[in-house]
Amino acid sequence: MRICVYCASSTKIDKSFFDATEKLAMEFAAANIDVVYGGGATGLMGKLADVILENGGKIKGIIPKFMNEVEWAHKSVSDMEFTETMHERKAKFLEDIDGLVALAGGTGTLEELFEAITLKRLGKFTKPIVILNTKNYYDPLKVMLERCVSENFMDERHLDMWKFVEKPEEVLDALTNFPIWDENAIHFARK
Ligand code: AMP
Repeated sequence: MRICVYCASSTKIDKSFFDATEKLAMEFAAANIDVVYGGGATGLMGKLADVILENGGKIKGIIPKFMNEVEWAHKSVSDMEFTETMHERKAKFLEDIDGLVALAGGTGTLEELFEAITLKRLGKFTKPIVILNTKNYYDPLKVMLERCVSENFMDERHLDMWKFVEKPEEVLDALTNFPIWDENAIHFARK
C-alpha cells in the first residue's frame, strides 16, 4: 500500500501530536507501507520521517525546489522528488496512492486536505481520506463539514468521502475498510 500523509511543519505544538505521529509511523513501518509526504524536516513531518526511517520503513518526500533552497528538505530522506511549484507537488501527492491521511496541521495541511476532498467530490480522486483527530483538534472541521451538508452546500452522500478517527491505531483499519467511492461522483457533486 502507498499512503500519502499530510501534516504540520510546526515544532511548537503539543507533545500529544508528536506522540500520535510516532505511533502511526511505527505502524506504517511495521506494515511495510510506502509513505509519501511533504519532505519536510520539522514538526510532524520531521517526526513521521525520522520514526519511519528508524524502524526500517519506506518514505518518499515531494518538496518544491524553493523549499529545498532554504534547506527545509529532510536530509536523511534519500527518496526526495523536487517540484517547480506547490501546485505540482500537490498533484504528485495524489498520484498512484491507495489512500491519504491528514494528521494535525495548519493551512498547508488544510489546503492539501481540502483539495483532495474537492477532487473526490468531482470523482477525480477516489481513494480513502482519513483524518486523525488527535486532541480533538479537528472537531471544528468536522462540524464545518457537516454544516456544509446540513445547509445543502453538499449532499448527504458526501459524508462518505472522509472518515475521522480518534487514535493512530485506528488509521490502518479505516484505510483498508473504507467505503468505495464512485468515479461517477460528478453526477451528484452539485445539489
Ligand atoms: P502546515 O500544516 O501549515 O504546517 O503546512 C504543512 C505543509 O506546508 C507542507 O506539506 C508543505 O506544503 C508546507 N510547509 C510549510 N512549512 C514547511 C517546512 N518547513 N518544510 C516543508 N514543508 C513546509
